[in-house]
Amino acid sequence: MSDDQRILDGSRVAAAIRAEVAAAVAELAARAVVPRLDAVLVGGDPASEVYVGSKARTSAELGMRSETHRLPAATRQDELEALVDRLNADPEVDGILVQLPLPRQLDTAAILRRVDPAKDVDGFHPMNVGLLQQNRPALRPCTPAGIMELLEREGIALAGRRAVVVGRSDIVGKPMAVMLLHAHATVTICHSRTRDLAAVTREAEVLIAAAGVCALIGPEHVAEGAVVVDVGMHRVGDRETAKASRITPVPGGVGPLTIAMLMANTLAAAKARRDL
Ligand code: NAP
Repeated sequence: MSDDQRILDGSRVAAAIRAEVAAAVAELAARAVVPRLDAVLVGGDPASEVYVGSKARTSAELGMRSETHRLPAATRQDELEALVDRLNADPEVDGILVQLPLPRQLDTAAILRRVDPAKDVDGFHPMNVGLLQQNRPALRPCTPAGIMELLEREGIALAGRRAVVVGRSDIVGKPMAVMLLHAHATVTICHSRTRDLAAVTREAEVLIAAAGVCALIGPEHVAEGAVVVDVGMHRVGDRETAKASRITPVPGGVGPLTIAMLMANTLAAAKARRDL
């Protein structure tokens, strides 16, 4: 198989999802509905600025409205909660995204619980987390939802196959494992206390590397012919993944899918709130 055929092209799948969202947004515009995504950014973390900027830009490209609410790093809990309450109550706002991480003085879990579940386009509210567990319709976390779209659209079979997820965060690892389970994979979750990580990951026919640790996955971790999805920002090396049959590139893998799914979630929230 050539290198091109091996690539699981997140950018291409993300572009397809964006085009579908743009077409649906155009249909809504004919009914005078324009979905709106509001981002909340507390403090001036440069990486968060970049993420929020690209989310706002993508919203505009797809015909949606977006607002970014910037608060100073020293914002108090009650001030942030007041903003979330205001956005919850604003009928113009369809999606609310609180950019993480929040400054240390703020209680992140309490803020995420405060967001109206119907506007929770990140899928982090406990109600949406519970609905996902039960495999019922819900707004789903964008990164794992994007990976599921990628696997499905690239024709990667999951039913009955061994999937291993490295990482157990609420944002990526745990929802990823649940989604793979609902797709009938046999799922193992690894984390920092896992003994002999390589022995477990070598069992994987589908390996999702979401630990965020540079060079964690080496050649000894990948079985011949495995499908590898690299969620981290640090590229897993060519040498490490030479045995993989299909692999996501970094950049151009999971990042664009995450933003595309955020747009899809905002569209879904806008329609659901209007019973469309
Ligand atoms: P996180 O909250 O830091 O979680 C990392 C997970 O990896 C934890 O469960 C941790 O285990 C586990 N881990 C750490 N070291 C390990 C080791 N040596 N062996 C096995 N497991 C280990 O990170 P996250 O938010 O889930 O994000 C994971 C990665 O995805 C990061 O690189 C992040 O930048 C990336 N990401 C990318 C996108 C995108 O759009 N491309 C979006 C979100 C996240 P413990 O639970 O035991 O600590």
